[in-house]
Amino acid sequence: MPESSALVLFSGGQDSTVCLAWALDRYDRVETVGFRYGQRHGVELEQREVIRSKLRHLGAQGHRLGGDTVLDLPALQSISDTALTRETEITFAATGLPTTFVPGRNLLFLTYAAALAYRRGIGTLVGGMCETDFSGYPDCRNDTIQAMAQALSLGLASPVAIETPLMFIDKAATWELASELGGKELIQIILEDTHTCYMGDRTHRHPWGYGCGKCPACDLRAKGWTEWHTRTGDTAEAGT
Ligand code: ZN
Repeated sequence: MPESSALVLFSGGQDSTVCLAWALDRYDRVETVGFRYGQRHGVELEQREVIRSKLRHLGAQGHRLGGDTVLDLPALQSISDTALTRETEITFAATGLPTTFVPGRNLLFLTYAAALAYRRGIGTLVGGMCETDFSGYPDCRNDTIQAMAQALSLGLASPVAIETPLMFIDKAATWELASELGGKELIQIILEDTHTCYMGDRTHRHPWGYGCGKCPACDLRAKGWTEWHTRTGDTAEAGT
Protein backbone atom coordinates (compact mmCIF):
# COMPACT_ATOMS: atom_id res chain seq x y z
CA MET A 1 0.00 0.00 0.00
CA PRO A 2 1.40 3.43 -0.88
CA GLU A 3 2.23 5.77 1.94
CA SER A 4 -0.65 8.08 2.93
CA SER A 5 0.16 11.73 3.40
CA ALA A 6 -1.47 15.00 4.41
CA LEU A 7 -0.64 18.69 4.53
CA VAL A 8 -2.05 20.45 7.60
CA LEU A 9 -2.87 24.16 7.59
CA PHE A 10 -1.14 24.90 10.87
CA SER A 11 -1.34 28.34 12.47
CA GLY A 12 -0.15 27.53 15.97
CA GLY A 13 -3.64 27.98 17.39
CA GLN A 14 -5.65 25.48 19.41
CA ASP A 15 -7.77 24.22 16.51
CA SER A 16 -4.98 23.65 14.03
CA THR A 17 -2.87 21.95 16.72
CA VAL A 18 -5.68 19.45 17.34
CA CYS A 19 -5.94 18.98 13.56
CA LEU A 20 -2.22 18.28 13.38
CA ALA A 21 -2.47 15.64 16.14
CA TRP A 22 -5.48 14.17 14.30
CA ALA A 23 -3.49 13.94 11.06
CA LEU A 24 -0.47 12.37 12.80
CA ASP A 25 -2.83 9.69 14.07
CA ARG A 26 -4.07 8.84 10.56
CA TYR A 27 -1.44 9.51 7.92
CA ASP A 28 2.02 7.99 7.38
CA ARG A 29 3.55 11.34 6.49
CA VAL A 30 2.35 14.75 7.65
CA GLU A 31 3.66 18.14 6.61
CA THR A 32 2.55 21.59 7.75
CA VAL A 33 2.01 24.95 6.11
CA GLY A 34 1.60 28.37 7.71
CA PHE A 35 0.91 31.83 6.37
CA ARG A 36 2.49 35.15 7.20
CA TYR A 37 0.13 37.94 6.17
CA GLY A 38 0.92 40.84 8.45
CA GLN A 39 -0.76 39.51 11.59
CA ARG A 40 -0.70 42.14 14.30
CA HIS A 41 1.21 39.84 16.58
CA GLY A 42 3.72 37.27 15.47
CA VAL A 43 3.03 35.15 18.57
CA GLU A 44 1.10 32.45 16.71
CA LEU A 45 3.84 32.02 14.13
CA GLU A 46 6.52 31.91 16.83
CA GLN A 47 4.63 29.19 18.66
CA ARG A 48 4.36 26.98 15.58
CA GLU A 49 7.86 25.56 15.81
CA VAL A 50 7.58 25.10 19.60
CA ILE A 51 4.42 23.03 19.13
CA ARG A 52 5.82 21.10 16.18
CA SER A 53 8.89 20.02 18.11
CA LYS A 54 6.78 18.88 21.07
CA LEU A 55 4.36 16.95 18.83
CA ARG A 56 7.31 15.25 17.19
CA HIS A 57 8.02 13.62 20.57
CA LEU A 58 4.40 12.90 21.45
CA GLY A 59 3.22 9.30 21.28
CA ALA A 60 4.07 6.69 18.70
CA GLN A 61 3.09 8.83 15.71
CA GLY A 62 5.30 11.88 16.31
CA HIS A 63 7.96 10.66 13.89
CA ARG A 64 5.44 11.02 11.07
CA LEU A 65 5.76 14.79 11.27
CA GLY A 66 7.74 16.04 8.29
CA GLY A 67 8.64 19.44 6.92
CA ASP A 68 7.08 22.84 7.45
CA THR A 69 6.60 25.68 4.98
CA VAL A 70 5.66 29.26 5.78
CA LEU A 71 4.25 31.20 2.86
CA ASP A 72 4.24 35.00 2.78
CA LEU A 73 0.93 36.50 1.73
CA PRO A 74 1.43 40.22 2.32
CA ALA A 75 -1.25 41.04 -0.27
CA LEU A 76 -3.88 40.04 2.31
CA GLN A 77 -2.94 43.07 4.35
CA SER A 78 -3.55 45.48 1.48
CA ILE A 79 -6.99 44.09 0.73
CA SER A 80 -8.27 43.82 4.28
CA ASP A 81 -9.10 46.37 6.91
CA THR A 82 -9.55 44.30 9.98
CA ALA A 83 -8.68 44.09 13.62
CA LEU A 84 -6.33 41.20 12.98
CA THR A 85 -4.05 43.13 10.73
CA ARG A 86 -4.45 46.72 11.94
CA GLU A 87 -4.57 48.42 15.29
CA THR A 88 -8.33 48.79 15.23
CA GLU A 89 -10.80 47.73 17.84
CA ILE A 90 -12.29 44.26 17.61
CA THR A 91 -16.02 44.78 17.37
CA PHE A 92 -18.88 43.10 15.64
CA ALA A 93 -19.74 44.86 12.44
CA ALA A 94 -23.31 45.52 11.31
CA THR A 95 -23.11 42.31 9.27
CA GLY A 96 -22.76 40.33 12.49
CA LEU A 97 -19.25 39.32 11.45
CA PRO A 98 -16.41 40.22 13.79
CA THR A 99 -14.11 42.88 12.33
CA THR A 100 -11.35 40.27 12.47
CA PHE A 101 -12.91 38.81 9.35
CA VAL A 102 -10.57 38.80 6.36
CA PRO A 103 -12.83 38.26 3.36
CA GLY A 104 -12.15 34.93 1.67
CA ARG A 105 -9.03 34.25 3.73
CA ASN A 106 -9.57 30.49 3.92
CA LEU A 107 -10.17 30.29 0.18
CA LEU A 108 -6.77 31.87 -0.42
CA PHE A 109 -5.09 29.69 2.21
CA LEU A 110 -6.56 26.52 0.71
CA THR A 111 -5.51 27.52 -2.80
CA TYR A 112 -1.92 28.12 -1.74
CA ALA A 113 -1.91 24.98 0.39
CA ALA A 114 -3.22 22.88 -2.51
CA ALA A 115 -0.55 24.25 -4.84
CA LEU A 116 2.14 23.45 -2.28
CA ALA A 117 0.65 19.99 -1.64
CA TYR A 118 0.68 19.29 -5.38
CA ARG A 119 4.39 20.09 -5.47
CA ARG A 120 4.97 17.85 -2.45
CA GLY A 121 2.98 14.94 -3.93
CA ILE A 122 0.26 15.24 -1.27
CA GLY A 123 -3.44 14.93 -2.13
CA THR A 124 -5.05 15.63 1.24
CA LEU A 125 -5.31 18.97 3.04
CA VAL A 126 -6.36 19.16 6.69
CA GLY A 127 -7.81 22.36 8.16
CA GLY A 128 -9.45 23.48 11.41
CA MET A 129 -12.48 25.12 9.78
CA CYS A 130 -15.57 24.76 11.90
CA GLU A 131 -19.14 25.85 11.30
CA THR A 132 -20.42 24.94 14.77
CA ASP A 133 -19.17 27.62 17.14
CA PHE A 134 -20.39 31.02 16.09
CA SER A 135 -17.89 32.98 14.10
CA GLY A 136 -20.02 33.64 11.06
CA TYR A 137 -17.15 33.08 8.65
CA PRO A 138 -18.79 31.91 5.41
CA ASP A 139 -15.49 30.46 4.20
CA CYS A 140 -15.52 28.03 7.17
CA ARG A 141 -18.76 26.38 6.08
CA ASN A 142 -18.65 22.77 4.99
CA ASP A 143 -20.40 23.58 1.70
CA THR A 144 -17.71 26.14 0.90
CA ILE A 145 -14.87 23.77 1.78
CA GLN A 146 -16.26 20.88 -0.26
CA ALA A 147 -16.92 23.14 -3.27
CA MET A 148 -13.35 24.38 -2.89
CA ALA A 149 -12.02 20.79 -2.92
CA GLN A 150 -13.89 20.22 -6.16
CA ALA A 151 -12.57 23.41 -7.76
CA LEU A 152 -9.00 22.61 -6.69
CA SER A 153 -9.26 19.04 -8.01
CA LEU A 154 -10.43 20.34 -11.37
CA GLY A 155 -7.92 23.18 -11.49
CA LEU A 156 -4.96 20.95 -10.61
CA ALA A 157 -6.24 17.98 -12.65
CA SER A 158 -5.43 15.91 -9.58
CA PRO A 159 -7.73 14.82 -6.74
CA VAL A 160 -7.66 17.14 -3.73
CA ALA A 161 -9.43 16.10 -0.52
CA ILE A 162 -9.97 18.59 2.28
CA GLU A 163 -10.44 17.03 5.72
CA THR A 164 -11.94 19.20 8.46
CA PRO A 165 -12.11 17.14 11.67
CA LEU A 166 -13.56 20.04 13.68
CA MET A 167 -16.29 21.06 11.21
CA PHE A 168 -19.28 19.79 13.19
CA ILE A 169 -18.01 19.81 16.75
CA ASP A 170 -17.92 22.66 19.27
CA LYS A 171 -15.00 23.96 21.31
CA ALA A 172 -15.73 21.65 24.25
CA ALA A 173 -15.66 18.66 21.90
CA THR A 174 -12.39 19.97 20.43
CA TRP A 175 -10.81 19.74 23.92
CA GLU A 176 -12.26 16.22 24.21
CA LEU A 177 -10.85 15.23 20.82
CA ALA A 178 -7.42 16.50 21.90
CA SER A 179 -7.68 14.43 25.06
CA GLU A 180 -8.60 11.31 23.06
CA LEU A 181 -5.74 11.86 20.61
CA GLY A 182 -2.93 12.73 22.97
CA GLY A 183 -4.17 12.54 26.55
CA LYS A 184 -2.91 14.89 29.22
CA GLU A 185 0.33 15.52 27.34
CA LEU A 186 -1.47 17.00 24.34
CA ILE A 187 -3.83 19.02 26.56
CA GLN A 188 -0.75 20.44 28.29
CA ILE A 189 0.82 21.43 24.96
CA ILE A 190 -2.42 23.16 23.95
CA LEU A 191 -2.62 25.01 27.27
CA GLU A 192 1.01 26.11 27.37
CA ASP A 193 1.93 26.63 23.75
CA THR A 194 -1.02 27.23 21.45
CA HIS A 195 -2.11 30.76 20.86
CA THR A 196 -5.57 31.97 19.89
CA CYS A 197 -5.91 35.42 21.56
CA TYR A 198 -6.60 38.20 19.06
CA MET A 199 -4.62 40.63 21.25
CA GLY A 200 -1.44 38.53 21.20
CA ASP A 201 -1.46 38.36 25.01
CA ARG A 202 0.88 35.71 26.39
CA THR A 203 1.33 37.23 29.85
CA HIS A 204 -1.97 36.23 31.44
CA ARG A 205 -2.27 32.51 32.21
CA HIS A 206 -5.80 31.20 32.75
CA PRO A 207 -6.94 27.63 33.45
CA TRP A 208 -7.56 27.35 29.67
CA GLY A 209 -4.20 28.79 28.58
CA TYR A 210 -2.70 32.20 27.77
CA GLY A 211 -4.66 35.20 26.51
CA CYS A 212 -6.22 38.56 27.33
CA GLY A 213 -9.36 36.78 28.54
CA LYS A 214 -11.58 39.43 26.93
CA CYS A 215 -11.43 39.12 23.14
CA PRO A 216 -13.89 36.88 21.24
CA ALA A 217 -11.21 34.20 20.67
CA CYS A 218 -10.34 34.01 24.39
CA ASP A 219 -14.03 34.01 25.25
CA LEU A 220 -14.72 31.04 22.94
CA ARG A 221 -11.69 29.12 24.23
CA ALA A 222 -12.58 29.72 27.90
CA LYS A 223 -16.23 28.75 27.43
CA GLY A 224 -15.21 25.56 25.60
CA TRP A 225 -12.80 24.65 28.40
CA THR A 226 -15.46 25.15 31.08
CA GLU A 227 -18.10 23.30 29.07
CA TRP A 228 -15.73 20.38 28.46
CA HIS A 229 -15.17 20.01 32.20
CA THR A 230 -18.89 20.30 32.87
CA ARG A 231 -19.53 17.46 30.43
CA THR A 232 -16.80 15.25 31.86
CA GLY A 233 -17.78 16.11 35.43
CA ASP A 234 -14.26 17.33 36.13
CA THR A 235 -13.13 20.62 37.65
CA ALA A 236 -12.36 23.42 35.19
CA GLU A 237 -9.31 24.39 37.24
CA ALA A 238 -7.55 21.17 36.25
CA GLY A 239 -5.23 22.95 33.87
CA THR A 240 -3.69 25.31 36.39
ZN1 ZN B 1 -7.70 37.42 23.92
